[in-house]
Amino acid sequence: MTTRPDSQNQLDALRSEIERRNPAQPEFHQAVHEVLDTLAPVLAARPEYAEPGLVERLCEPERQVIFRVPWQDDQGRVHVNRGFRVEFNSALGPYKGGLRFHPSVNLGIVKFLGFEQVFKNALTGLGIGGGKGGSDFDPHGRSDAEVMRFCQSFMTELYRHIGEHTDVPAGDIGVGGREIGYLFGQYRRITNRWEAGVLTGKGLGWGGSAIRPEATGYGNVLFAEAMLRERGEDLEGQTAVVSGSGNVAIYTVEKLLALGANPLTCSDSSGYVVDDKGIDLDLLKQIKEVERGRISEYAERRGASARFVPGGRVWEVPADVALPSATQNELDENDAAALVRNGVKAVSEGANMPATPEAVHLFQRAGVAFGPGKAANAGGVAVSALEMAQNHARTAWSPARVEEELAGIMSHIHTTCHETAERYGAPGDYVTGANIAGFERVADAMLAQGVI
Ligand code: NDP
Repeated sequence: MTTRPDSQNQLDALRSEIERRNPAQPEFHQAVHEVLDTLAPVLAARPEYAEPGLVERLCEPERQVIFRVPWQDDQGRVHVNRGFRVEFNSALGPYKGGLRFHPSVNLGIVKFLGFEQVFKNALTGLGIGGGKGGSDFDPHGRSDAEVMRFCQSFMTELYRHIGEHTDVPAGDIGVGGREIGYLFGQYRRITNRWEAGVLTGKGLGWGGSAIRPEATGYGNVLFAEAMLRERGEDLEGQTAVVSGSGNVAIYTVEKLLALGANPLTCSDSSGYVVDDKGIDLDLLKQIKEVERGRISEYAERRGASARFVPGGRVWEVPADVALPSATQNELDENDAAALVRNGVKAVSEGANMPATPEAVHLFQRAGVAFGPGKAANAGGVAVSALEMAQNHARTAWSPARVEEELAGIMSHIHTTCHETAERYGAPGDYVTGANIAGFERVADAMLAQGVI
């Protein structure tokens, strides 16, 4: 497939314009560039997509909300955080995407996440648009009562912007079942409505879906296995390095073990643990889910097979498969070079944009199967959409049914990315496949719905 130079010129001009109009938002620029870099063949092949304004509209959020979140700590001191909700694109359905509570959160981070979410949600094949939100609040070291007061204050503003047919937030970094509970309670109190479909990731007894906590990690492992199967292999007996030790990482480890693989590592922002016998899932869950402790405690309690490496990155540990599951830009070119040197076969992104562009190029040049987050970690939002479907029908599906649906959706995403990449002359390039397939679905809906 040849690329018309005018398509590339159009995309290059747009890229410069986006940088100019969105200063000091490097993560947003990175996410947009990564998509625009792959769209020239589809704009050349389908002239309707090159229509002035279409890609420009796709790169501009429909709505951006920023608000003050005042709250009191247990000593009565007042803190002021900043809340965000970026409603990026609703051509395919209500805005859908998580809330992140982490001190690094700012508008550029929320926009990068919202932009990624638009393509990811399109790839699931379900009727969900893209959005993202959060706050620079840091839940680490805060009591349950402080987290509750923060969530209540956050929702006291957010409630007016969301709704089951409008915008449906979920969890992300720093927002798990506890936070979703406090947020849902406050929404219900303010609106006087039992509107289960307004938030996903709810508790099983009050509108949550089976397999939602597991979905992102499970889905990413299924995606990694699908990539390996394309090469005549599977996960049985393979070693894996996993970063992070939160929701995504824990259920990545669980699924790796279920498929006969051997996860060797986990990490948090203080460093990583490597366990020669393979990660002990029960101990990991006890420390991280029950006690909310630090990953160093895993090595202290596990015995001789495990050690803690303060400040280190898991990528220096040799393994067959790498599953980054912590945060953006956690795997750079040097890390990628170490993984390739040690013979890694597949890298699948559980986190959003964990590999830098240089790392991605290095993997692709080395012939490593690389699954981008917007495809590989879409299992979480897919099961969130299934949670919404169950809420609308006032029913609850069995874990077996949800898991079967998840497996079907991940297989569909893998096939779609694989076939789209081949169709546009980039066989085996899941980045191009995911970007173009997601783009086609959203762009078709936007063209049909007119200039809005
Ligand atoms: P959690 O808050 O449950 O866990 C995050 C983990 O990553 C923790 O171990 C945390 O360590 C570590 N981490 C976070 N920020 C940093 C940082 N700046 N440096 C080093 N380590 C860090 O979040 P999730 O597991 O839900 O999310 C992980 C990733 O997966 C994110 O990129 C998220 O956007 C993505 N994702 C999540 C989905 C979901 O369903 N939850 C769906 C799709 C993608 P520490 O505790 O020390 O901060």
